[in-house]
Amino acid sequence: MKYFAPPVEKLIEQFERLPGIGYKTAQRLAFFVLDLPKDQVEEFAKAILDAKQTVHTCKVCQNLTDGEICSICSDPMRDKGLICVVTDPKDVVALERTREYKGLYHVLHGVISPLNGIGPDQLRIKELLQRVADEDIREVIMATNPDTEGEATAMYLSRLLKPFGVAVTRLAYGVPVGGHLEYADEVTLTRALEGRTQI
Ligand SMILES: [Zn+2]
Repeated sequence: MKYFAPPVEKLIEQFERLPGIGYKTAQRLAFFVLDLPKDQVEEFAKAILDAKQTVHTCKVCQNLTDGEICSICSDPMRDKGLICVVTDPKDVVALERTREYKGLYHVLHGVISPLNGIGPDQLRIKELLQRVADEDIREVIMATNPDTEGEATAMYLSRLLKPFGVAVTRLAYGVPVGGHLEYADEVTLTRALEGRTQI
C-alpha cells in the first residue's frame, strides 16, 4: 500500500536511488523539496540537468570537465612529463588539495574487477597508453587505491607501460597521520617500512 500521493512516492523513489540514501532519508529529502519555494526547486532541477548536459570527460586525461580539455591539462604551469593515474575524478580533487602535485592526471573511471565484470576494456587504459606513446612522459605514478583491485590494476598497467621505457612508480603507503602503530595491520606496516624516507 502506498502512503503518499503518487508524485510524492515517485520523488521519494528518485532520492532512494542515490548512493547511501535509504527510504527514511529519501522521504525526508522529498518533503524538504516539497517545502522549498518553486524557484529554488527549479534551480535545483536545472543544476542537475545542466551538469548532466555540459559535463563530459577531458579528451586528454579523461577527468570530468565542461570544456574540450580540462583546466589542469590546459594549464601551462603543469609538468607535462608526469602523469598520475587515479581511479576516479574524486581522487584528482583529493590530490589537488595537497597542492604538492604539479603534474598531469589520468582518470581510469574504475578498476579492473573480475567479480563485478569490469575488464580492462571498460576503463580508459588505451587512452593512457596512447598518451605515453605520443607525448614526452618520463614518469607514470600509480595512485589507485591500496586494496586488492587497486593493486592488481596498478600491476596490470605497469606491465603494459614497461615497453614504453617510462618510469612507473606507486604511491608510498604508510601509517595514517594521527594513527597508532599498534592498530595498523601488517600490510600497512610492511608498506610503511618499504616506503620509508630519510629525515
Ligand atoms: Zn584533462
